[in-house]
Amino acid sequence: MKFETLSLHGGQTVDETKSRGVPLYRTSAYLFDSAQHAQDLFSLKVLGNIYTRLGNPTQDVLEQRLALLEGGKASLALASGTNAVFYTMINICDGGDEIVASSGLYGGTYTMFDAILPQFGIKTRFADINDPESFRKKITDKTRVLYIESVGNPALDVADIEAFAKIADEYEIPLVVDSTFSSPYLLKPLEWGANIVIHSLTKWIGGHGTALGGIVVDGGTFDWSREKFSLYNRPDKGYHDLRFGHDLGELNSLAFILRMRTVPLRNLGGCISPDNSWMFLQGLETLALRMERHSRNALAVAEFLSGHERVDWVRYPGLKGDSQYEKAQRYLPRGAGGMVVFGIKGGREAGQKFIEALSLFSHVANVGDAKSLAIHPASTTHSQLSSDALDSAGIGEELVRLSIGIENIDDILEDLKNALAMS
Ligand SMILES: *Cc1c(COP(=O)(O)O)cnc(C)c1O
Repeated sequence: MKFETLSLHGGQTVDETKSRGVPLYRTSAYLFDSAQHAQDLFSLKVLGNIYTRLGNPTQDVLEQRLALLEGGKASLALASGTNAVFYTMINICDGGDEIVASSGLYGGTYTMFDAILPQFGIKTRFADINDPESFRKKITDKTRVLYIESVGNPALDVADIEAFAKIADEYEIPLVVDSTFSSPYLLKPLEWGANIVIHSLTKWIGGHGTALGGIVVDGGTFDWSREKFSLYNRPDKGYHDLRFGHDLGELNSLAFILRMRTVPLRNLGGCISPDNSWMFLQGLETLALRMERHSRNALAVAEFLSGHERVDWVRYPGLKGDSQYEKAQRYLPRGAGGMVVFGIKGGREAGQKFIEALSLFSHVANVGDAKSLAIHPASTTHSQLSSDALDSAGIGEELVRLSIGIENIDDILEDLKNALAMS
């Protein structure tokens, strides 16, 4: 089935209630058939429901649907995108291991890698997303993963995923792609050779700014039994001394997701609520329609801004002449997404005035809502970063970030025009 069809039907088996909508299972726990059944569930001999921290039937439909939409083997939904990034990294890296990552990351992810993961003995070396070879230079014998965003936040650099996948493959390490800004409708990183895809469901997949969630999709293609992946080779104290890279038999290709569910999720507890899983299934049903409109409106906004006298520069990967245009044509042929950033003349002060003068756009920290949103990253979402880190992430004082919604384009442009006149 094609994308639009899968986003409505994928992963749902209609049950005995004949409920057409995916039922919302609000329960914490599930009855065991027998003592033996309970024992088999706990030892992974059979897969099934135990407790909602580990999984829930509503969540299961969401996980199957996203795996189908990304072309992956399995997935795990979590409490937030941030949580999805964290569990992915601690499900790959042991203490002493290293990450090589883009320096232009989502602010929270950058801080996690730079300031929190070192607590676990995991070090990150940052490299330039526009130069895949700069990643190669940062790889050492301790590197266990390459980490990039498909379209970076907020500089909107488009990753040459195929080039990164080749490098990862050469060094026998996985490529992890946070694909939040493109959504599976615009881009499927696994098709370009990535091994794992992460989404903040909070953004375009939910699509309405009403729930927090994240998901990790595993392509099932990476061989975790390689000796340097210590978490998959030694008997796991976190799960009955199982060696996840060796002891799973037929479930071997699911080693990564099974370990994430049974070790980090089970013991650290960042589960998604059944209600939020249900919200994200609602969002997915219209993802294709919304991404088309987001992309069309964003292109019109970029074209409008690039001709405006109060605007210094515009960055939209789908805009002809943009430095990312060639890569966008290759990786994002269905549309370059809903984000537009631009530099306003007059720097920080003009940027803040502009944002206050908007009336249709909402001034919020979120992106990916059906409604248009605006923010000034240097003083808000990325204010944790040093001025050097801001520079290498491409975030100047003059940068304004717009998340273009699906309103009528005339109303969007009118609001921008008025606010620019007042900035
Ligand atoms: C929002 C976002 C995250 C974090 O997701 P939350 O759901 O807010 O925790 C991670 N990566 C990117 C690219 C994001 O936009």
